[in-house]
Amino acid sequence: MTSSEKRAALDELAKQIINCKNCGLCETAINAVPGEGNADSEIVFIGEAPGATEDQTGRPFVGRAGKLLEFMLGQIGYKREDIWIGNIIKHRPPDNRDPMPEEIKACQPFLTRQLEIINPKIIVTLGRFAMNYFALDAKISLDHGKPLEIKSHIVYPVYHPAAGLRNPKMKLALIEDFLEIPKILKEAKEK
Ligand code: URA
Repeated sequence: MTSSEKRAALDELAKQIINCKNCGLCETAINAVPGEGNADSEIVFIGEAPGATEDQTGRPFVGRAGKLLEFMLGQIGYKREDIWIGNIIKHRPPDNRDPMPEEIKACQPFLTRQLEIINPKIIVTLGRFAMNYFALDAKISLDHGKPLEIKSHIVYPVYHPAAGLRNPKMKLALIEDFLEIPKILKEAKEK
């Protein structure tokens, strides 16, 4: 696919996401958050679900966790518009509760298609939910910072930036893991 074909396919999918009623979350959310960024990116970052600021704006990672994500991207030489950012769940769960298995399942075809279109070299999962979406049995405390080969993807789990904001040790681990991303990407490209 050319860049403009990818862009158009993602835009078309975003329209479907905005109109999606496959689970109850569309009834309580203000806006859908389809994801955004560079359709040609070699790296995508996948979080859990929109929070309050994302729900208000329709954009992923624009609250405090997003500021930390942008800072860490800067540490490895990227701006947010260089990469693509999305979530496994496209509508905010009320009161930021954990997404339910049926909500994750209902949303799954969207992320599957987004990843098919972008076809990134590596998928960086932010936090436990996004990691377990790809690797059911993985444990974030053990598996963060270790690239996993899952089907045709290289998945690189790191702690969620919101966890980093709450816990200084997790923040340190998150930054350390982020600094490895260029090396993980290089290795993925050599495969
Ligand atoms: N946390 C997430 O997991 N995703 C967002 O988009 C914002 C906060």
